[in-house]
Amino acid sequence: MLKIHNTLSQKNEVFAPRHKKRVNLFVCGPTVYDFSHLGHARTYIAFDMIASYLKSLGYKVFYLQNITDLDDKIIDRAKQENVSWQELSNKFEAEYLRDIKALGISSVKKYAKATKYIKEIVSQVKKLIEKGYAYKLEDGIYYDISRFKDYGKLAKRTFAQAEDAVSRVDEAVGKRNKGDFSLWKYSKQGEPSWPFGSRRSLGVKVGRPGWHIEDTAITEKHFGPQYDIHGGAQDLIFPHHEAEISQMEAISGKKPLVKYWMHTGFLTVGGQKMSKSLGNFITIRDFLKDNPARLLRMIVLKSHYRSPIDYNKKILSQTKKELERIDEFVEKLKRSDSPNINIGKQSFKILNFKKRFLEAMEDDFNTPTALAAIFQLIGKGNLLLDKGKLTKTNAAEIIKFLKETDKIFKFIFWGKRPVSLIPEMIKNLAEEREIARKNSDWRKADSLRMKILEMGYNIDDTKRGPVLKKIRI
Ligand code: AMP
Repeated sequence: MLKIHNTLSQKNEVFAPRHKKRVNLFVCGPTVYDFSHLGHARTYIAFDMIASYLKSLGYKVFYLQNITDLDDKIIDRAKQENVSWQELSNKFEAEYLRDIKALGISSVKKYAKATKYIKEIVSQVKKLIEKGYAYKLEDGIYYDISRFKDYGKLAKRTFAQAEDAVSRVDEAVGKRNKGDFSLWKYSKQGEPSWPFGSRRSLGVKVGRPGWHIEDTAITEKHFGPQYDIHGGAQDLIFPHHEAEISQMEAISGKKPLVKYWMHTGFLTVGGQKMSKSLGNFITIRDFLKDNPARLLRMIVLKSHYRSPIDYNKKILSQTKKELERIDEFVEKLKRSDSPNINIGKQSFKILNFKKRFLEAMEDDFNTPTALAAIFQLIGKGNLLLDKGKLTKTNAAEIIKFLKETDKIFKFIFWGKRPVSLIPEMIKNLAEEREIARKNSDWRKADSLRMKILEMGYNIDDTKRGPVLKKIRI
């Protein structure tokens, strides 16, 4: 029985979608004014795993993601680069989709561009005005948070606490409450603008949507006023997701807008969130110049989706070794030609590992524990392979199971790995290191090991002596 941690209840709840086997999932997409970085990748890889796992359980998943193709950042950047906002956002939307494809993310069924939903946005703002939740100021239309009595229920903030957090774009003179947010901004000279409906414009001027309204307009159009899962990283809980609840529940009178709210932890650098504004980011594009996508997928999935991941050299090299271990095992399995008979007492049961894997995934998508089950399987499999006790049937069962897990994780290498010859120079260094070790010159031995590592080779000190391996990841 799958359980999901719901930010709204702050509990792990049994997953029961609104329409039996159909799941409507919405995840906040990017604002397309620049290349995406590893922080974005963290969130999108996590939700790809979640959607893929739900599919493996037999759910029909409609995974919808918005693309914010118009906001202040896009307008400012377009001005700086002397191009139109459409040119800029079209370019970075295409770049984003290229990165997503390169990362093996294939579960999103529809990308919805905000500016394609102006009609739906206008209709929502009109309803909010008519119901008395929205009011007009000099520069646009605002949502009156004091009118919505559940305001703060997602972020667990009281009305007063919510008042203290005003997002940059929503500062204006004359707001009724400090926390009131923008629904419709009147456009300044030269800025993109749309009419506020054709017939009943309610005296509202031409303008463009506020930040939060695009998502509820998009989800209402595709899912209706209520749906199953809404995701994003933790920074979006407040004010963004809180605002979405206030808008949609006020319009429809139905609650909850979303049955399960899911939020990913941050990818950090030295403990700080990776972000454009801090300048501590690595673009997905740059990462993929030097590394395969599966390395990033494994870095992301070996942590629980709600935990932070600190990105550094150590996690890179550690994960490379772990991937190498899986690859080697798969290769051995493929080569394994032990007969199916004469292995004495059958001591290998794939079901035990499958059970551990599934139990972990059912526990709020606990990928680190699911991955630990895979590594236990590799440990046991290697032991039996070394003793010649893993039958061909066992090997086939393991490969089948790993392929199933890899439809969700997508980081195992299934191709043929090239045979690599160890260069003489590396062999000589390794011999030198052995001599140093025999002479108990540990410093020299360590420094030679580092040198060999830097040249792309690993030394395993086995009972049979040191074994050199090329690092292939
Ligand atoms: P943005 O384009 O900044 O709106 O971000 C798109 C998505 O990526 C949102 O769900 C963000 O919360 C998420 N995101 C941005 N930075 C990070 C990070 N460092 N770690 C995890 N998720 C992030």
